[in-house]
Amino acid sequence: MKIRFWGVRGSIPCPGPNTMKYGGNTPCIELRFQDVDRLIILDAGSGIRELGNYIVAHDLPKGPISTEIFLTHTHWDHIMGFAFFAPIYISETKLKVYGPVTYEDDTLEHVVGGQLTYRYFPVRQEELAAEIEYIHLKEVRLDMGDDIMVTTKYLNHPLLCLGYRFEYHGKVFCTAYDTEPFRNVFCTDPHDPSYDEAMSSEGEQVAQEENQRVEDFFAGADLLVHDAQYTQEEYESSKVGWGHSSFEHAIAAAKHSGVKRLALFHHEPMRTDAQIDELTKTYCNPDYGGNTEVFFAREGMKIEL
Ligand SMILES: [Zn+2]
Ligand SMILES: [Zn+2]
Repeated sequence: MKIRFWGVRGSIPCPGPNTMKYGGNTPCIELRFQDVDRLIILDAGSGIRELGNYIVAHDLPKGPISTEIFLTHTHWDHIMGFAFFAPIYISETKLKVYGPVTYEDDTLEHVVGGQLTYRYFPVRQEELAAEIEYIHLKEVRLDMGDDIMVTTKYLNHPLLCLGYRFEYHGKVFCTAYDTEPFRNVFCTDPHDPSYDEAMSSEGEQVAQEENQRVEDFFAGADLLVHDAQYTQEEYESSKVGWGHSSFEHAIAAAKHSGVKRLALFHHEPMRTDAQIDELTKTYCNPDYGGNTEVFFAREGMKIEL
């Protein structure tokens, strides 16, 4: 598998002189499978615009474009680039869009394609030239053909959100964003009038089991791309429940599950290149990561598994 990052930033695009090194585009990852002519795209954040242009320049001359987009969820930073993905305006393009929907009556086609209405954009969905099929996903294991297997896992985010595990010729590529650790939702303070000892300990157990299931999901991955928007201090001070992880959590989870390489991902938009460089001294230090190699995902970065 060949992986290339086209967007690594969370929440909103933030181009400018302070984000040149790590990049300012929101999530989009290209995944190519060697020996078979398959291209899978993870997320349609603003990074997909450049990827679409690359595909038109490099793939289209060899024949019509056929690709699949797997959406982790439909928060805007993960779908905002869809209308700027050039292949959807080419009539021979065949595109499948996979993703979870939180409400059954809100189809993926409506949520994603619905960005193309005159209210927001000069082209309507009905006018798109490409053949686009939308497929709703839950927790499943799919045989994609060509020896490509994909498994999905629900994560902990305010909206239904899926982690993906791609397996191909003995290699494993996994994503776990946007997510934060599951936590006990019951009161844990014995002095609080709402405290119930049984509920509190059951809540603790359920949270631990769910966190274990997530770690099992990416066990042994050759590469894990994990949500890491905050430091643990930032997370605990005001970001609990926002649906994003700390560096500390991402690294600990990757180490527990024997992940070989961990890409810290979904960078906080406020974070400058200089600040990320400073963070690498702590979080990418081999003394910290142990057997797991830790790095900050960077736009344009290529990795081969
Ligand atoms: Zn996001
Ligand atoms: Zn999100």
